[in-house]
Amino acid sequence: PVIAQQVAAGEVVDRPASVVKELVENSLDAGASRIEVELADGGTTRIVVRDDGRGMSAGDAKLSVLRHATSKIHSVEDLEAVTTLGFRGEALPSIASVSAFELTTSTGEGPGTKVTVDGGAPAAVAAIGCPKGTTVTVDRLFYNVPARRAFLKGSRPERAAITDTLTHLAVTNPTVGFRLVEGGREYLSLPQARDLRERLAAMHGVGKVRAFRSVEYESGAFRVTGFAALPSLTEGSRARQTVSVNGRWVRGDTLMRGLDDAYRQTVPAGRYPPVAVNVEVDPRRVDVNVHPTKQTVRFSDDRAARAAVAAAIRQAIEWRPA
Ligand code: ADP
Ligand code: MG
Repeated sequence: PVIAQQVAAGEVVDRPASVVKELVENSLDAGASRIEVELADGGTTRIVVRDDGRGMSAGDAKLSVLRHATSKIHSVEDLEAVTTLGFRGEALPSIASVSAFELTTSTGEGPGTKVTVDGGAPAAVAAIGCPKGTTVTVDRLFYNVPARRAFLKGSRPERAAITDTLTHLAVTNPTVGFRLVEGGREYLSLPQARDLRERLAAMHGVGKVRAFRSVEYESGAFRVTGFAALPSLTEGSRARQTVSVNGRWVRGDTLMRGLDDAYRQTVPAGRYPPVAVNVEVDPRRVDVNVHPTKQTVRFSDDRAARAAVAAAIRQAIEWRPA
């Protein structure tokens, strides 16, 4: 079973940034208002994710590292209209099978709980005192899967990927505070914002945000909202283009192509103006369960989704065919 878990782990987590994504999504699902990530060596030797969310009881903490023990889905109907970021119950057991894993948690009532798992071995559980919320520590990721460890890229690139991941999650969750630290240095510090505009101002600077236009578009099954930079804003990269579907940050090609369609005529190839948009669609018209990372989405009509994103951005930046 440990081997099977390690194989499955490779589907959910392939590098420190995907561990951070899964842990931070759990913190968001737990209603956290502040999330702090601490690293050693770009996450390759240590990742700590600390939140002030609702925490877990001792019983739930024990279950959380067992496979498919999600607390978020109770029926097939739930699966058709997931409102939480997690639902597969795979992340914690997968991560715990390929690292030295520790979770401490408290609901704020009674003592807290510490769960320790070493490389997928049976969990050790103990009562401890800790503040309300949850802290997960992942040490020596892939120490027991050398073939996978060999693919890690080194502190700098792994930390850069984590910064990108947190930046995307911070855009999709503007009212949550985020911090990333390593070795006493702060790589990201975003206080809780009132709304997306305020968050974007904190990230890009108030001056640049003046070159952002509000996106407000509805057509057929899709509603697209958020902000898109005018083509005149010369900086930007894919990492500053955040697209979410019903509040979930995704990386699907379909929607990114929609962005490219919108800017194609006004921006030279290879330039990516910053975008932060959410696509609202009936959950029954989109499948987020295509891949274990839940980052690929499939719409019942992919072409219509791409066209809606393109039209939404074009309308916002007031681009018209000559
Ligand atoms: P999923 O998110 O798909 O349910 P996970 O393996 O990511 O599965 O987490 C397992 C369970 O552990 C969750 O369903 C949730 O009940 C609990 N959990 C995990 N992380 C946290 C957290 N930071 N705060 C509160 N509960 C958590
Ligand atoms: Mg999860």
